Amino acid sequence: MPSPDTLTPADITASGLCIGCGGCATKGMAWDKYGQRKPSPATLADYNNRHPGPVPASTAPQPDQPIEARHGVCRDEPGMTDRPAPTSATTQFPGEGRGPVPTGPMPDPVGRPGTSETFAATCPFSPTARNEDQLALARFPAAPHHDARLGRYEANYVGHAEQAPFRERGSSGGMVSWVAADLLASGKIDGVAHVIPATGDRLFHYRISRTPEQILEGARSRYYPVDLAEVLQEIRSTPGRYAIVGIPCFIKAVSLLREQDPILHDRITHLLGLFCGHMKSAQFVDSFAWQLDVPRQDVRAVEYRRKDPDRPANWYTAHLTLNDGTARWQDWFHLADGDWGAGFFQNSACDACDDVVAECADVSFGDAWVEPYSSDGRGTNVVIVRSPEIAASIAAAINNGRLDLKAVDADFIANTQAAGFRQRRDGLAYRLTWQKRRVTPVKRVAPRATGHPPRRRAIYRTRAAIAYWSHRMAWAANRLRWPALYTRWARASLYIYQALAYKRGRLGRWLARLAGVEG
Ligand SMILES: Cc1cc2nc3c(=O)[nH]c(=O)nc-3n(C[C@H](O)[C@H](O)[C@H](O)COP(=O)(O)OP(=O)(O)OC[C@H]3O[C@@H](n4cnc5c(N)ncnc54)[C@H](O)[C@@H]3O)c2cc1C
Ligand code: SF4
Ligand code: SF4
Repeated sequence: MPSPDTLTPADITASGLCIGCGGCATKGMAWDKYGQRKPSPATLADYNNRHPGPVPASTAPQPDQPIEARHGVCRDEPGMTDRPAPTSATTQFPGEGRGPVPTGPMPDPVGRPGTSETFAATCPFSPTARNEDQLALARFPAAPHHDARLGRYEANYVGHAEQAPFRERGSSGGMVSWVAADLLASGKIDGVAHVIPATGDRLFHYRISRTPEQILEGARSRYYPVDLAEVLQEIRSTPGRYAIVGIPCFIKAVSLLREQDPILHDRITHLLGLFCGHMKSAQFVDSFAWQLDVPRQDVRAVEYRRKDPDRPANWYTAHLTLNDGTARWQDWFHLADGDWGAGFFQNSACDACDDVVAECADVSFGDAWVEPYSSDGRGTNVVIVRSPEIAASIAAAINNGRLDLKAVDADFIANTQAAGFRQRRDGLAYRLTWQKRRVTPVKRVAPRATGHPPRRRAIYRTRAAIAYWSHRMAWAANRLRWPALYTRWARASLYIYQALAYKRGRLGRWLARLAGVEG
């Protein structure tokens, strides 16, 4: 395994550990062939030129090589194979093979950006970077509570934003946009980096919003690869105080960068975390288009969770807006890959993640996936508050009726994410015993091969296999222009997964009988 002074983004990427946060992007980010954000070839070359050590000369990045060849080979990593890169335009993601997205060079605030030492201290999946416990302890030393699942905290709540139009516009109870808008209105920040719909080579991207209206334009969850490279660059070059909204690994990346970079330390004053199940690739949108029978190039916009107050909140509806202004939609549970737990299109780094609730964030938000809240289509948040300043603002807004929140304990919050914690704690312990990577991740969960019932082990293995193969099958379906190749495979995989996970179907009943006999 490379040492901290030789670790490069190529090592992390080749090990299937790159979530695509963009923290290392000295020369931009790019799409890989499976529709995931990765450091661009120019960024990889930038690091390798300074530290040619870990990448053998025969695999050193070449401008005309496919990206996977530049990274070396790791068969665990969906984006990285030893097969040739696609040549057909139909298989390319926008920007893939056309060089980096032009995010420009990073200014030089740390003194040694782009070096292995800085990278090893700031990549969220670097084995030598500080972990979530250490980062949260440094940021919230006086937090009165600690829970092994939620981290350090001041208070926990369930509820929603009462002040219009946050709940109506949000995916859940509208609390993320409400807190962001409240920070802006109270003058504590000048802008919020969050994810909004985009045009061009991406359906969504990070932007810094500076007005309440702009914040609301970004409301809703986007299960789509995005990266921080451009907004970090903007924050470095534009004085001000900023909040960043992000999934846990992005919040960790920013926390690590903030420790190394005095400019980011001073300017990024607030971190708003989203709970996270896993990240999907952009190929998920291809799959929506195939299953809704529309050409992918006709899709102008995507909504992953169309809100309907008259239906349960957990009945997700995928909604596509087409270039001609018409729309198509379908409930996730009718889709071949619409079972979130099955892991279709999951980034391989998520298999090595142990933070469900963004433990380094000042405040974290999720969905209240327990009854009666999950049946309430208007959407309900769970909220973990870690910063005393935000705790005070939330308490004041509860008192004056702008928020409708009820205090709950740590068990309540953890129960809303029961499946996420199983996958990221028990499942992670098991995966760490059999998923071999060039860079071995260092987690807060110890590897453990024993103590997992056979059915659980089978579920973890099936989920990992579905994640791995979904990238490849969709890629092949794209390349061959044969969507049924993917959708038939996906339906068969879903059948097996649901038989194992929910004892559904003939196979499920048979497996249940077998387990009964064994038991
Ligand atoms: C990939 C992903 C996985 C998630 N997994 C879970 C889960 O397992 N369990 C759970 O309870 N909740 C999960 N969430 C969070 C959940 O979907 C809601 O975002 C959260 O409950 C906040 O809802 P809200 O109504 O308060 O937010 P809103 O008011 O709708 O605001 C959402 C904010 O998040 C920003 N945003 C949207 N997508 C992203 C993104 N990809 N990266 C960074 N910022 C983004 C938006 O720009 C907006 O500012 C996930 C979110 C994402 C993006
Ligand atoms: S810093 Fe982010 S983009 Fe760079 S290698 Fe690590 S996870 Fe990937
Ligand atoms: S599961 Fe973990 S690694 Fe994957 S996107 Fe979510 S926070 Fe990041």
